[in-house]
Amino acid sequence: MSQGLITAAYIIAAILFIGSLNGLSSQESAKRGNVFGIIGMIIAVIATIASAQVSGLGYITVAMAVGAGIGVRLALKVEMTSMPELIAVLHSFVGLAAVFIGFNSYIDHGVLLGAAKTIHDVEVFLGIFIGAVTFTGSIVAFGKLSGKVNSSALSLPGKNWINIAALTASALLLVSFVSGDLGLTALIIMTVIALAFGWHLVASIGGADMPVVVSMLNSYSGWAAAATGFMLANDLLIITGALVGSSGAILSYIMCKAMNRSFISVILGGFGNEEFVQEGGEEYGEHFETSAQEVADSLAAAKNVIIVPGYGMAVAQAQYPVAELTKRLRDKGKNVRFGIHPVAGRLPGHMNVLLAESKVPYDIVLEMDEINDDFPETDVVLVIGANDTVNPAANEPGTPISGMPVLSVWESEKVVIFKRSMGAGYAGVQNPLFFKENSEMLLGDAKASVDAILSNL
Ligand code: NDP
Repeated sequence: MSQGLITAAYIIAAILFIGSLNGLSSQESAKRGNVFGIIGMIIAVIATIASAQVSGLGYITVAMAVGAGIGVRLALKVEMTSMPELIAVLHSFVGLAAVFIGFNSYIDHGVLLGAAKTIHDVEVFLGIFIGAVTFTGSIVAFGKLSGKVNSSALSLPGKNWINIAALTASALLLVSFVSGDLGLTALIIMTVIALAFGWHLVASIGGADMPVVVSMLNSYSGWAAAATGFMLANDLLIITGALVGSSGAILSYIMCKAMNRSFISVILGGFGNEEFVQEGGEEYGEHFETSAQEVADSLAAAKNVIIVPGYGMAVAQAQYPVAELTKRLRDKGKNVRFGIHPVAGRLPGHMNVLLAESKVPYDIVLEMDEINDDFPETDVVLVIGANDTVNPAANEPGTPISGMPVLSVWESEKVVIFKRSMGAGYAGVQNPLFFKENSEMLLGDAKASVDAILSNL
């Protein structure tokens, strides 16, 4: 393929990627956004492997076939609840690729002199640094999101000083690497430091702040890809990496605002945060248990109902009976709406995806800010598998979720909480909501409970 054709293909792919991001910004246009992204990526891959710089097409084809095979298998197999872990693993691959390409680009860059060599060295160094941080950070995030690693924040003595020391040492190694004093040795030492730094950065962030970590690692993986683009002199990779990097950074900022957290503090691994003792087992008094029949009766008498879903709805795959319940109640003339917390579930937009999948109309699915003032006029709130996002302890100091705005479900006339036990949510903070006078616990799997209500309604 001629260079002109490749440039044209890259421009078309870049436009499609921008269109894709635009489409993904709302539920109605998300499918279109996905299609743009897929077409853009196909064009980008074909144009790249058809360029004159690329040789060894046989190897590339085999590698792509193996990668695509694994990818398709994983995507078909993965449960919706495991998507966050899958995304974390995919981010780690981007980071690892940046590290490999960085070393490759250093060892095999042809003849470079003067300023061109300095620029190339800085690209290599930064690409490997960001890639290594992304790699280990994403692996820790995978562990925390999948429950394989404790989700509470690691708090090593002098943790902020450890981070500052890692950054200072890396900066000194950069100077030594660019001046040629230490060469490959500087690169290897920095890689080890960056791997440890990425691990420590994410391990230091507590469960409640994990949503920001997911979007932050998304952003880092974008910058790692952009750095790789500079090393390979590939304009499209630079554009794509910058798009992912900046959209991930904007999402992290939005999540921080939604959770009332300092952006700088979270991206620096909880810099300046207080340390909390997590006491998941604390009880606040008596709780009251209800039955599916009683909840069905309350719903039959109610006019205004709000459903607040959380991670447990995803685990139970309860979105289909919840959609059916919504339809049945609306058919009876009741005002049924959904209240979605920005960090409900384990992924930005997790609940919206599940509700869209089960065909709940978009116009009754409202964001926290749009619905939070309506609870006092609500007869029944169904909290389906949500916990941290409806925890009034967030309004008190001294817990890992303190300061995070939550849905004030307790202001309604009656709250029914669907969960399997009296246990705490993801952040490990016991929930005083369960012990309020107007709260009723419907214990059991959320799908089975909603099915039981449907048969009693
Ligand atoms: P939580 O994770 O706080 O709580 C979910 C609740 O669902 C649990 O208390 C659990 O209780 C219940 N549950 C689990 N399985 C079932 C089931 N089969 N049937 C019924 N209930 C079930 O949920 P929230 O959505 O309220 O909060 C999300 C949390 O995740 C926040 O802390 C947020 O910061 C964090 N997070 C969010 C991310 C995002 O991007 N949205 C990313 C990473 C973390 P029990 O075991 O008793 O059933």
